Amino acid sequence: DCGLVWLRRDLRLSDHAALYHAAQQCRRLFVAFIFDRDILDSLPRQDRRVVFIWESLAPVDAALRERGSALIARHARACEAIPMLARELGADAVFTNHDYEPQAIARDAAVAQTLRSEGRQLITSKDQVIFERDEVLTGASKPFSVFTPYKNAWLKKLDAYQLKAYPSERALDRVAPLPAAVAGGLPSMDSMGFDAEFRMSLAPGEAGARALVDEFRDRISQYHDTRDFPAVKGPSYLSVHLRFGTVSIRELARFAWQRVQTDSTEGASRWLAELIWRDFYHQILFHHPRVVTQSFKPEYDRIVWDADEAKFAAWCEGRTGFPLVDAAMLQLNTSGYMHNRLRMVVASFLTKDLGIDWRWGERYFAEKLNDFDLAANNGGWQWAASTGCDAQPYFRIFNPFSQSEKFDAQGRFIRRYLPQLARLPDKNIHAPHLMEPMLLRAAGVNLGVDYPRPIVDHDVARKKTLERFAVVKAAS
Ligand code: FAD
Repeated sequence: DCGLVWLRRDLRLSDHAALYHAAQQCRRLFVAFIFDRDILDSLPRQDRRVVFIWESLAPVDAALRERGSALIARHARACEAIPMLARELGADAVFTNHDYEPQAIARDAAVAQTLRSEGRQLITSKDQVIFERDEVLTGASKPFSVFTPYKNAWLKKLDAYQLKAYPSERALDRVAPLPAAVAGGLPSMDSMGFDAEFRMSLAPGEAGARALVDEFRDRISQYHDTRDFPAVKGPSYLSVHLRFGTVSIRELARFAWQRVQTDSTEGASRWLAELIWRDFYHQILFHHPRVVTQSFKPEYDRIVWDADEAKFAAWCEGRTGFPLVDAAMLQLNTSGYMHNRLRMVVASFLTKDLGIDWRWGERYFAEKLNDFDLAANNGGWQWAASTGCDAQPYFRIFNPFSQSEKFDAQGRFIRRYLPQLARLPDKNIHAPHLMEPMLLRAAGVNLGVDYPRPIVDHDVARKKTLERFAVVKAAS
């Protein structure tokens, strides 16, 4: 009769699986979000993601208030707060959407057990992916570990039903006024120890996602041509919204799928393929939770990495002397976003030029990325480090200078983040250390003072990496 809907990475009220299912089964509904101290306590005071969550929840609270209810938000440990709220509200069941991360699975199992011991249920639904867990399997009923056959099987299985929106707005007729003893509304950012002014440049909430989708509608047909050039507005910038569920994956996949049917260009099918990568990495994490700490291919854990703290710091701070790498890291450090091509370039640079363990880079990204998502981040890092499923072969080593010449030919992206190099000619901006000292000085650059010399020699590093990875070949 009475249900509690627990929001997590699905901060919206439209096309929401758990909300829809709750309304099917309960006449009275409450909606809650927990700022989970098990996650938040280890974050710095300045974290754009927490502000984004808060600002995305404010319109959810407002919409519930319009219906005479309110969002119940707490700064507490979710595993304790949710059963406690269910008790206070007299809820028969808690409804929530699946999360495939190992820690979330453990948390949900603990919550389910506490609820069960008190005669209540935890009812969960698929919401954040199109296909989950065992829904797309090989002919031998095994999970896929190679992307292209997974994508083909995914596309074959896709039908109108999977893309259909849940009419969850109707569930709002069922939200109930809060009992006097249960406070509604959001705790202040200050009371939770976070800086409310430390924002992303991205507009939050469903409205923010809607504006981005509308704007991308006209660009999707060029996506295949523009997506690789960091100085160009090529991608959708929807990753943060997908991460926090301020947009429904069904809506995005439906939009892409419809455009695949009608567009003569490759743009929409390339973009849909990226959404399929997202599902792919989620099912990898679900089936192989060991990837959180280990290489997907176990023999790659024989590799001995260089634990070079000084080089790692130079990479983090954008002081490597490789302009594209440095500009990319400055983009990450100043905005919390990094273009996909650059994520591949800097990850390859860390692991194959500096010989540093991919897990160090993965951790740094996890701290800094607005769109940090364990499944996609781990997948991306293991791809770049060649340790992952369907990864870049280890002998294919990106040359950071030629990546720069190819994808930022006029140095437009580099100039944006490294203004000290702004006056260098296009052809030299990728490798200032190779310029005539006189020409460098004429462009106002004092190498080693205004901008560092390269911290490694790419050709030497390349050879070292091939030797480092030889242990893998020897093992197989
Ligand atoms: P678009 O190009 O518009 O793509 C649309 C959506 O597809 C993205 O929002 C994202 O949800 C999904 N997507 C795109 N590429 C991938 C991919 N390779 N794997 C999985 N999903 C993808 N993406 C994250 O969402 N979170 C991360 O923490 C993350 N870490 C990464 C780390 C590395 C080392 C690499 C190489 C990639 C990582 N990616 C991650 C994937 C990708 O870089 C981002 O999803 C993308 O840059 C986000 O920008 P966008 O929304 O404009 O992407």
